[in-house]
Amino acid sequence: MAVAKILAASNPFARLQLELEAVDVAIVRSQYRRLALAVHPDKCKEPKAKEAFQALSEAFERLSSAVGQAQCLREAGAKAAKVSKRGSPGPEPPEAGGAPSAEDRKARWWDTKTWEEFEERLRHRERAEAALRLRYCSGLRLRFSTKKMREHVRAAERSAEHLDRNMGLAESFLWPPESTQTARDLEEEVAKARQTEPWPGAANELLPDYNERPELNDPQMALQRLLELLTHLRAVHRYCLFCGCTYDSTEDMEENCPGVTEEEHEEASSAGLRSSQKSTAAQPEEPEDEEEDPLEAYMVSVEAEAERQKKGKRKRPR
Ligand SMILES: [Zn+2]
Repeated sequence: MAVAKILAASNPFARLQLELEAVDVAIVRSQYRRLALAVHPDKCKEPKAKEAFQALSEAFERLSSAVGQAQCLREAGAKAAKVSKRGSPGPEPPEAGGAPSAEDRKARWWDTKTWEEFEERLRHRERAEAALRLRYCSGLRLRFSTKKMREHVRAAERSAEHLDRNMGLAESFLWPPESTQTARDLEEEVAKARQTEPWPGAANELLPDYNERPELNDPQMALQRLLELLTHLRAVHRYCLFCGCTYDSTEDMEENCPGVTEEEHEEASSAGLRSSQKSTAAQPEEPEDEEEDPLEAYMVSVEAEAERQKKGKRKRPR
């Protein structure tokens, strides 16, 4: 029932069973969770459950920001206008929020085997979103962080392309725009236009400046993109942009990566520095002992070693 309804829906709002109007992101999230539970392949055995779950998840991603919602509303409006003008919908252009074709090897954060794993990733994404909003969107820091966010988005896009390629995944909208097929097609077009252009260099005007990225000047849009990128890197590749490494497992990452934002990494490393300074200062067990006794220190380390061995295996007699 839910499967058919989601697949038949004509826009992302309808997929999430929402009215065609701007809505609080919290509502989008709770609708997503509710419908995901109904159609997640782990929970629903209908043949098209996977397809519906993909379409639902893509709709959620698009509607989980105010800018995304505005964009979807414009698209839905344009579509409706076209229908009323021509009287019939006609062939529809492939929709960005539509179900992906089965041949393409794609991996998105919501692609999990089990419902539990999916829930865990959804929670992770929510935490990430809250942390990012807190760090990047608090009043005074906005100007500074817009520039920072641009840098992070660019770095994350390059990492996504690199890791996706290594995994043999298909081209993704998360890659740098200049590495996509659309960019290559455009370049080809410009190359052709150059042969017939009226004055030299005119065709170059057609090429976008990929460093410009005007959409990233909007902090909300940049934040949304960064969230999608970091979620992808962390959930699909267990890669942290700010640790700069890939973790062995989700547990490993939870334990050793201080958080989603760059600030959390900076705070953790300065806190680590402070606590290691503190622990060297507090090394002598008795604070009244000003001079450290080398033998005492040695005995402490021997005892610690013995304790460790006792835990590991039976203590060997001396
Ligand atoms: Zn990290």
